[in-house]
Amino acid sequence: MRAEPNNGERPVLSSFPSTSIGNPLRAMPSVLAIRDLDRRWRRVVDQLHLDDNVLTRLLQLDPLAVVRGLRSTNAKVFRQGNDAPTVGRMVRQLGPALSRRLLDVDPVAVAGTSPIRMLWRHAIATALAAEELARSSGLMEPEAGYLLGLLHDLPTWLGTIETTFRSTKSRSSQLEWLAHWQLPAPLLALLRALPQHDRVPEAPTDAASLVRCAEHLAVLADFPHPDADDHATAVAKAEKADLLAAQRLRRRVEGTLRSFGLDPTIPDAEGELTAGLPLAGKRRGELDEAMLSILGCTRSERYRGIVTALLAAAVRFGGYDRAFYARWNKQSRTLIVRSKADTSSRRLTEIRLPVAPSEVAVLEAALKSEYPCHLIGEIGRANSLLASLSCDELLAVPLNRDFLQPAFLLLDRSLTLAPIELELDRSMAMTLGMTGALLNENLLLRRRRQRAQKFAFTDPLTRLFNRRMGLTSLEQEVARAQRSQRPLTVLMCDLDHFKQLNDTLGHLQGDSALRATADVLRQTLRKSDMICRYGGEEFLVVCADTTPDEATVLATRLFTAIAGRGEQLGLPLTVSIGLTTFRPDDTVEAMLQRADRALYASKGQGRNRFSADIESHDDPAPAR
Ligand code: GH3
Ligand code: MG
Ligand code: MG
Repeated sequence: MRAEPNNGERPVLSSFPSTSIGNPLRAMPSVLAIRDLDRRWRRVVDQLHLDDNVLTRLLQLDPLAVVRGLRSTNAKVFRQGNDAPTVGRMVRQLGPALSRRLLDVDPVAVAGTSPIRMLWRHAIATALAAEELARSSGLMEPEAGYLLGLLHDLPTWLGTIETTFRSTKSRSSQLEWLAHWQLPAPLLALLRALPQHDRVPEAPTDAASLVRCAEHLAVLADFPHPDADDHATAVAKAEKADLLAAQRLRRRVEGTLRSFGLDPTIPDAEGELTAGLPLAGKRRGELDEAMLSILGCTRSERYRGIVTALLAAAVRFGGYDRAFYARWNKQSRTLIVRSKADTSSRRLTEIRLPVAPSEVAVLEAALKSEYPCHLIGEIGRANSLLASLSCDELLAVPLNRDFLQPAFLLLDRSLTLAPIELELDRSMAMTLGMTGALLNENLLLRRRRQRAQKFAFTDPLTRLFNRRMGLTSLEQEVARAQRSQRPLTVLMCDLDHFKQLNDTLGHLQGDSALRATADVLRQTLRKSDMICRYGGEEFLVVCADTTPDEATVLATRLFTAIAGRGEQLGLPLTVSIGLTTFRPDDTVEAMLQRADRALYASKGQGRNRFSADIESHDDPAPAR
């Protein structure tokens, strides 16, 4: 967007086109427009009593000017005392507009991995965490905490939107450059102090350590900085209390993003769950919904789709923190994790999970009975399933027990620490297991039916269509030609002296000659042509939309190709062809009869040639 000179008058700040994509620089107003905004801003500030609404309205003229606007509000915003700033509130009010514009207006776009999106999520998460920490520690106003959290990555942020800044490499020169922005003193101080806090402090003691703690929580909640995805390491080292706080933060951020009109739980292109799903809270009465959500994939063509639905339903409706799908390796007695879903930020690094002997017994019994089992109490013991998942208890739901490699759905509540209540949880687990089994059965049946259908229509030796399929499709083509008046050609092909070939070289050679012929037919003809094995060594070819002239060319190509292949194989392989075309009011029988007659004409004239029975003023013209 750019401010266009308005017939030589003052530049006017127009609103952003909603379709602008990608480059945030495009959304930056020109220098003239900023100056104009500044001027208008100051005038309004001078004339009006400055309150939140005015600030908000003004900033809504150009949300990206929030950062620049802070210059103008410098004195007011961070002034100590009773008229303490409410810029935090203002920025929050601006959230929807700001987010939408920064995220290219697309309401689902927040679930992406582009740096600017990750940065924006990271900023919001840090802001919410900093606000909370400011409140609990009393170190500063929650509003100020929010604002510092939101802007703590200003250098990176500016790096993504400002070319000048991006080209400024060193940290100190970046800070120098920032100084020219006349940022509010506390913000500048924070940006200067933050790099000194490389390690996460035990507790917040000043603005920088508070923001660092908040940022750590944001990372634990899986809203990492795009350049430093240290989420997994952070989680591995984290204390349980911090993980719980991160879990709460995650839900708050998701709630905030939703209130901004952004859905944080959009699955990515592969249908995997990118973000955690909200806990349903209550479990009673969620069974139906779980069933419905899983049954949504009854027509899934892939087992993976079913598994994804099961995992999502377990987390969304079963109130589980994590759900894993793991294959059971009978030999090594280990579980191999194939997919997972979770509400929390905890990621599993191991794929192969060891199982302790006592756990093996329980899991094997569950497979036998097809009944979910409850594992509890092995934590701390080396090489146990519970220890490797670092949880106190979990439910294992057996799936596909008849498969070579059966599987388990593993469900836990290790983060919320809510206990597994056998009565309630069993029914949910049973529902998940049974629905999964039914869907899988359904998938297998459908696959089997498809295979059977294919089998019923193909000839096993040549893998061409069989006679039945050939006749059916000829019927359809005849009906279509009748309706559309488009040309249709039928070729009947019969190998020459095939009995002799069989008798002299044996049936195995005969069979490979038939396969070779089928290959030549497939390679020479178009995909839209129908080829079937009509009888022993007879092939029927139906060419829709093909005129007699085209078919003549085609037939010539065919028998030369077949003879050529015969020479290659050292077999006396030639073919005779009878050709006919569709006539008004033709029938399948009549066409086949004419093709047959033409074929016999070819045979009578010495074989290895084709004859056509084509409606014309001349007699059927024998070719060659
Ligand atoms: P013509 O040139 O007059 O067509 O003589 P031909 O020997 O090809 O005709 P005929 O109909 O007398 O013989 C067809 C032979 O095809 C008979 C049978 O042994 C052979 N045949 C039919 N189906 C198969 C098959 O699946 N495999 C093999 N190897 N031979 C087959
Ligand atoms: Mg023959
Ligand atoms: Mg024959």
